[in-house]
This record gives sequence, C-alpha cells and structure tokens, in this order.
Amino acid sequence: MSDLLQLGRISDDMREQLARVFTIHSPDDFPAEKITHVLTSSGVGIARTLMEGLPNLKAISNYGVGYDAIDIDAATAQGIIVSHTPNVLNSEVATTTVMLMLMCYREALRDDAWARSGNWETSGAAPLTRSADNQTIGILGLGRIGQAIADKFAPWTPKIVYHSRTKKDVPYPYYDNLVDMAAACDVLVCVTPGGSGTKNIVNAPVLEALGPQGTLINVSRGSVVDEPALITALQTKTLGWAGLDVFENEPAIPQALRDLSNVVLLPHVGSATVETRRAMGQLAVDNVIQHLRDGTMITAVPEHG
Ligand code: NDP
Repeated sequence: MSDLLQLGRISDDMREQLARVFTIHSPDDFPAEKITHVLTSSGVGIARTLMEGLPNLKAISNYGVGYDAIDIDAATAQGIIVSHTPNVLNSEVATTTVMLMLMCYREALRDDAWARSGNWETSGAAPLTRSADNQTIGILGLGRIGQAIADKFAPWTPKIVYHSRTKKDVPYPYYDNLVDMAAACDVLVCVTPGGSGTKNIVNAPVLEALGPQGTLINVSRGSVVDEPALITALQTKTLGWAGLDVFENEPAIPQALRDLSNVVLLPHVGSATVETRRAMGQLAVDNVIQHLRDGTMITAVPEHG
C-alpha cells in the first residue's frame, strides 16, 4: 500500500476507492517520509512548506480546476506532478453564472423577501425590475468555462464579446483591452484563473467603464477583482450590480458587501451540485490511481506540458 495524505474533505465514495490502494492519512497525523501522494482541493491547496517537508511526494491530485493554491513551480522543482479536474464542471459553473445574472437583473432576492414577508398583501405589487434580454455579455477569460458560458447564453442573446490574453477562433468579437470591453458590455463575467497573473485586473477603471447600468459577475477568484474598489463602486452606484460567488478572503465576506442590496452573494458554490462534485471527485481519484499505476495523470495541469 502507498501512503496518501488527504487535505480537505472527500466523499465516502472517494474514500472507499482510495482506501483500496492507499493508506489514507489525515493532516493531523501522517508519516512525512512515507507520503507519496496528496489529494487536496482548490479551496485548501497545499502549503509550500508542507510540500517541501514530504521528501517522497510524487503526485498531487487537486479536486477542482483552479490550482492557484498550489505552487506549481515549487512542485515541478521537487519533481512532483500536479493534476486538476477540468471540463467536468464547465456546464455547472456556466449555470451558476446565468443564475447570478438573472438574480441581479430580476431582483430575485428582493422579490422572494417581498413574497415571504407579506409585503405583497400589505403594500401591493413589488417594484418593477430590469429585463435581462438583449444584453451584451462580456466574458473575461474565454477558456473552457468561458466557452460554456458563451454556449449557455448564445441561444438567448447574440451579443457576446470576450477578452482573453489571446484571440480565439470563435465568432464573438475580441477586445484586446479590458476597459474597452467593459465600456461596451452590460454584463462583465470574470472566469479567469486566480493567481498573480490576474490579481486585481478588474480594477476601478474597469468598474467605472462598466458603469451605473452595468453588472459584474465573478465566478473566477476573489483576487481577480479589486474588492475595496468594487465595494466603493457599488456603494456610490458608479457600478449598478454585482453577483459574486468568490471573495478575496474566503470564507470571510466584508460586512460592507453584506450590507449592500445591489449585490448577490453566494458562498463559492459555482460547481457545487451533487452530480458535478461526484464527477470532479471521480476524476481526482482516477488521476491519483492512474499515477500509482503508471506514473502519469489523466489531467495534469498544463504547466507540465
Ligand atoms: P481555462 O484555463 O480553460 O481558461 C482560463 C481563461 O482565462 C483563458 O481564456 C485565459 O486566456 C484567460 N486568462 C488567463 N489569464 C488572463 C489574463 N491575465 N487576462 C485575461 N485573460 C486571462 O480555465 P477554466 O475555464 O477551466 O477555469 C477558469 C477558472 O474558473 C479557474 O481557474 C477557477 O479560478 C475558476 N473556477 C471557479 C469555480 C467556482 O466555483 N466559482 C469553479 C471552477 C472554476 P488565454 O486562453 O488567452 O490564455
């Protein structure tokens, strides 16, 4: 039996499969010298010091597509291969994006409260909302999930534009400048990876360009958006609305954001359905078991080539 260090939570089904080929250790008590595999998740990652303290570590399987909580350069230098779970969650995160947009436009939380509180009976009809039809959707990061978001919006609105580092072979107009795209769209959807390359790329000028009628949807990472600038823009209504699944210091959400009525807050649940988490969990398990068998992983991170 090989030794696997389990960081973060796994399902009973994942545990059962792993236990057939690994001795599973918890972070409270593990034999550092013996650990050859780690299974972690996007929210937990692995500290560099912990990685360096595992001299025989060969592979890290990340349960999640985003791996900004793992230092890939340090792992590579140590000869460790890292995998993640791309594609199996694309459609789910796209659904979350559409849901957040609709909740912002149609004020779903306000109207739910209106119905529950009895306001309908005492005060009459709820105030009108805005139509989500015919809006221009700007996608920041037209990768796997970004494309799934475009696909989900496409039957509904023909007006999709995007900004990525590179121009893609797609029918949507490309903006090589994020401020220009923000000025041209009604809804700006952030779906890039986190990490130093995207830190605060949605800054005050981008939010200002999106404007008082604009809506920001963030399903990427909290670090992608300058959170203090976002709070100011929402407070002063220089930005209209925001739908946020991710935050700078999760699970803490600034009180200033919680106090605002022009923001919808979700606790990082972009992929969090039973079906999609099962698929992600299976891929995370398959990766680590394949590595045990032949030293390769099905979905190694692209940095490994
Ligand atoms: P991909 O790697 O397929 O796509 C990422 C896209 O971001 C690419 O189009 C890339 O552009 C673009 N990008 C990267 N850096 C920049 C930059 N500096 N400026 C502009 N564009 C940039 O990743 P996925 O679509 O699979 O996942 C995207 C991210 O979504 C994950 O890394 C994770 O952070 C987040 N996520 C969030 C979830 C949630 O629960 N809320 C669930 C799953 C993922 P290019 O192609 O030109 O390089």
